[in-house]
Amino acid sequence: MSCGNRQEQRQTVLVVDDERVNLAVLSELLKGEYRVLLAKNGQQALERVAQEQEIDLILLDVMMPELDGYEVLRRLKDNSKTKDIPVMFITALNTVGDEECGLRLGACDYIGKPFSPAIVQVRVANILGFVRQRKMLEVLAGRDGLTEIANRRRFDETLEREWGRNQRNAQPFSLVMLDLDYFKQYNDRYGHASGDAALKMVARVLTRSLRRPSDFAARYGGEEFVLILPDTDVAGGREIAEKVRDGVEQLAIPHEASVAAPHVTVSIGGVTVCGGNDAAMSIIETADAMLYEAKHRGRNRIVWKPD
Ligand code: GH3
Ligand code: MG
Ligand code: MG
Repeated sequence: MSCGNRQEQRQTVLVVDDERVNLAVLSELLKGEYRVLLAKNGQQALERVAQEQEIDLILLDVMMPELDGYEVLRRLKDNSKTKDIPVMFITALNTVGDEECGLRLGACDYIGKPFSPAIVQVRVANILGFVRQRKMLEVLAGRDGLTEIANRRRFDETLEREWGRNQRNAQPFSLVMLDLDYFKQYNDRYGHASGDAALKMVARVLTRSLRRPSDFAARYGGEEFVLILPDTDVAGGREIAEKVRDGVEQLAIPHEASVAAPHVTVSIGGVTVCGGNDAAMSIIETADAMLYEAKHRGRNRIVWKPD
């Protein structure tokens, strides 16, 4: 299976074997198609896995001094960060019992030595094909179909993770909720398809208003959106919120049925917290209360806590 020529699209295979010659042969076999990493024992393999962002497949020898392949696999399975990396045993332990043992531990495939190079290539390609599909599905499962930004599900995961990280580093942390103003009337007047188009445009304003890689925008549901701004204080959070509010006005999407303005606008509620042991849920509730207040005060505005 071809992965294109660009280096970053190549999938990564970690080959683990204590025999130098096996490493060389397997590396030679795979390096035309994949990014190949090598480890010459179990310890090194675990270190490599901990360092690397993405390993798509591990080819693992069983018989190695100290940490054997079975133990390496057990440790990978014990760690939530590594438990889903597919592992293929390549081993001289060739009995049916050995194979059953390896597969029961959670290996995705088992190849006996001496191996046929062509069979190794095909099996590796098959598994990496599944890995690619699984990643695509994961991306799609976290994306909102209409606006193509993150969906509620990815927001929930991201908030939980970033909130946990924040409670360890005690930096200011901001959360922003926004809601289109009089959007029911917009649909009634201009039709649902125009409403959909407006939501897409607002989503684009959100993504281009973010500054850092850790800033995150999602569609919370319906005509509501949410921003997670880790390590962001009140001034920084307000600045981004104002960029969004103003950016939506600048779209100048006519909305004659709105009482707030003759074009589409958003109301924004924001909250900044610093440290504390609150549940992630409570900052959503606070941002939502600020949003409600922004609506109450006339819409097309930002209300923040603390003020
Ligand atoms: P407010 O200013 O108080 O927020 O008023 P509103 O009319 O925006 O609020 P309300 O909650 O009464 O209505 C939300 C509307 O958003 C109703 C719904 O039809 C529309 N909406 C939600 N999701 C979508 C969508 O995916 N596409 C379209 N076109 N409209 C949507
Ligand atoms: Mg709403
Ligand atoms: Mg609304």
